[in-house]
Amino acid sequence: MVNTEEAAPVVVITGGSRGIGLALVQAFKAQGTYWVASCARTLSRELQASADFVMSCDLSVPGAGRDFIAAVRAQQPKIRVLINNAGIAEARSLGAVGDDAHWQASLATNLFAAFEVTRASLGSLEDQRSSIIMITSVLAHRGLAEMTAYCAAKHGLLGFTRALALELAPRGIRVNAIAPGWVRTQMAAERAAAMGSSVEQLPRSVPMGRIVEPEEVAALALYLVSEVARSITGQSLCIDGGFLA
Ligand code: NDP
Repeated sequence: MVNTEEAAPVVVITGGSRGIGLALVQAFKAQGTYWVASCARTLSRELQASADFVMSCDLSVPGAGRDFIAAVRAQQPKIRVLINNAGIAEARSLGAVGDDAHWQASLATNLFAAFEVTRASLGSLEDQRSSIIMITSVLAHRGLAEMTAYCAAKHGLLGFTRALALELAPRGIRVNAIAPGWVRTQMAAERAAAMGSSVEQLPRSVPMGRIVEPEEVAALALYLVSEVARSITGQSLCIDGGFLA
């Protein structure tokens, strides 16, 4: 008898230990059909309880993204969805001491890691089916003082998204960016604290008077990888309560 059962589609999400990444892992698992792999430097209990495969790795180290994908591929030959989410955001004025290290860390985690993970995944992506999402930021679309390294990396990630969308279009593989404004995560809390503010005060800077919940970003990702979005590629979808309007 011919086995017509298809293997569960594989989703790879970087930076799943908390925040948006964890919401993504949990949202895909909640669909009931996906096999989900993720990584982070520190594996949280929530991530270990949610994902099918987790690996501790520091994606800012050259080669780590490649090793992560090799470990996933050892378990699953195909990748349906890849979400480059891991990121760091630290404010620093350009003339500050330690500028080089700050820039290198931002580019390594926010940009180079996405390139390395994506390139290592290329051979496993499914023609006419797979989808890649880059979690960028509204700061891929505008600048912000003291965020030069982050803005440069996120603008770069958007450029990578657009060029890769064209490169993979003939294979029917879509590549899009989700550009969030403030999202209720540890990163937002740390950024707010660094600005002498708090998460509770962040809605004041948003036209709709509310910040985004991580689950809203995950819902947008589910939409983007769905059949309904089959003609959407090379785009940046902002989810920001009107911040960039
Ligand atoms: P968090 O800081 O809450 O989570 C970041 C995740 O990335 C964690 O799981 C962290 O795990 C992981 N990570 C960070 N550095 C590395 C690394 N070197 N190697 C492996 N994993 C790493 O951030 P958010 O959830 O808020 O952010 C997720 C994405 O969304 C980022 O790309 C961020 O730039 C973007 N974003 C967030 C916004 C916000 O307001 N929150 C706004 C716009 C964009 P660990 O520390 O254990 O390694």
